[in-house]
Amino acid sequence: MQGTAAVVGAGPNGLAAAVVLARAGLDVTVHEAAGEAGGAARSAAVLGPGTVVDLGSAVHPFGAASPLFTQLGLHRHGLEWLHPPVVAAHPLDDGPPGLLHRSLERTAAGLGADGRAWSLLHRGVVERWEETVESVLAPLVRVPAHPLALASFGLRAPWPAAATARALFRSEQARGLFAGSAAHAVLPPRHVLTSAFGTLFGAAAHATGWPVARGGSQAVVDALVADLHEHGGRVLVHSLVTDLAQVGPADVVLLDLTPRQVLGLSGLELPDRYRRALARWRYGTASYKVDLLLDGPVPWRDPRVAEAGTVHVGGTLAEIGAAESQARAGRLPERPFVLVAQQGAADPSRAPAGQQVLWSYAHVPHGCDDARAGERVLQQLERFAPGVRDRIRERVDTSPARLEAWNANLVGGDIGGGSLDGLQQVFRPAVQADPYATGVPGVWLCSSSTPPGGGVHGMSGYHAARRALRGLARSRRRTG
Ligand SMILES: Cc1cc2nc3c(=O)[nH]c(=O)nc-3n(C[C@H](O)[C@H](O)[C@H](O)COP(=O)(O)OP(=O)(O)OC[C@H]3O[C@@H](n4cnc5c(N)ncnc54)[C@H](O)[C@@H]3O)c2cc1C
Repeated sequence: MQGTAAVVGAGPNGLAAAVVLARAGLDVTVHEAAGEAGGAARSAAVLGPGTVVDLGSAVHPFGAASPLFTQLGLHRHGLEWLHPPVVAAHPLDDGPPGLLHRSLERTAAGLGADGRAWSLLHRGVVERWEETVESVLAPLVRVPAHPLALASFGLRAPWPAAATARALFRSEQARGLFAGSAAHAVLPPRHVLTSAFGTLFGAAAHATGWPVARGGSQAVVDALVADLHEHGGRVLVHSLVTDLAQVGPADVVLLDLTPRQVLGLSGLELPDRYRRALARWRYGTASYKVDLLLDGPVPWRDPRVAEAGTVHVGGTLAEIGAAESQARAGRLPERPFVLVAQQGAADPSRAPAGQQVLWSYAHVPHGCDDARAGERVLQQLERFAPGVRDRIRERVDTSPARLEAWNANLVGGDIGGGSLDGLQQVFRPAVQADPYATGVPGVWLCSSSTPPGGGVHGMSGYHAARRALRGLARSRRRTG
């Protein structure tokens, strides 16, 4: 199809949309405010020479599972997924950690009496993994392409993760492992639909793993940019768009922005109903990031935790519930839930020999500027890895405000483009049949504020671009 497209924002979704449009034949220009493309999936040597630090996303279960990334064949542009020996670990004060392995059977065996329930919960989803992924990485309100897979997953999804964990598991290992996965929803586990996250992340571990990208998450977005170039498109960096007139005339415009930024754009006459819906959009709990360069491996009390690519540092199910509830209520938790990535367990290129980059972030209140947050992250690490403080050579803290200053889509430090509570999980960003339509002809929203939501999978960009192409074809038919 001939024509021109402008994309505002070169995050994974903006780039995914750009690639889909360029491959369809459009002449695509991406405008990116920052000095380089990649949005919240960039990497840099912020801990010193020889380090590779993921500045945003780190671990990519849904990048590896993304139907779009697979279809694009991003490995041709150097993207390689690397898997750690253990997918994830959940250390506890008392007793051994919960360990999530690629193998469902091995994970179940490690959970003793809870192994059977673990298998029962995940097996059906793992067996229908590809259909499930296609269904959940798409708008949920539509005729499902794979009703059986969606039904099988749907039986497990609606419940609060805390209720599922307590009903199915007896041990803190299994409960913690499930709650840690559910906490990727950035909601307290008492919320409805949080079981969907627990089950999906658990099943992803067994189906595709939770890999990291060789050389840093930047490799994912670099591959998308290379594909875009291959198909004639371009990215203009240092190109902050504040008025739609800046992008010039284009047949379609895709916005890789969250609702607050869309509302702030000049030159965009949004219909009142849509404008009101965007104004009601709620941003959620924030992340406070702490990156560390250590002069050796993390001294985890249980050495098996060192083999995990991801570590959920939050203690028991009850503690995770309390921490998430406090953060959501605007109070800095004494013991926050901390997500840790040890990319080096899969990719030794992340730090000079003998050293380790430790990536982590804690869930803290939206917009939190409490200077104690970084110290609380260290306390949580020290709790399960005594002596880790003595190994720190470099430390970089990134508060929610600094995250937003780095990337305007991270409003108040919310890394998901808006909270997943209530209707916002299903209807992103407004209750309407087409989640990507802005109501302005030719202008579409493609960020993580649209389905399927946060994560580096490019599927919001993919679906938005497909709608944009269909819309363009329709309008051309109409005008003859
Ligand atoms: C600390 C952190 C940890 C994360 N961890 C993971 C993880 O481990 N795994 C995972 O899958 N996901 C993770 N995520 C989430 C993931 O990175 C995001 O969901 C994903 O990047 C969203 O992509 P996007 O394209 O919608 O938006 P973004 O990646 O936020 O990109 C938006 C882009 O638009 C640009 N922009 C904004 N306003 C304008 C403007 N007016 N003009 C021009 N350009 C503009 C921004 O500069 C940015 O480059 C994490 C995110 C963060 C911040």
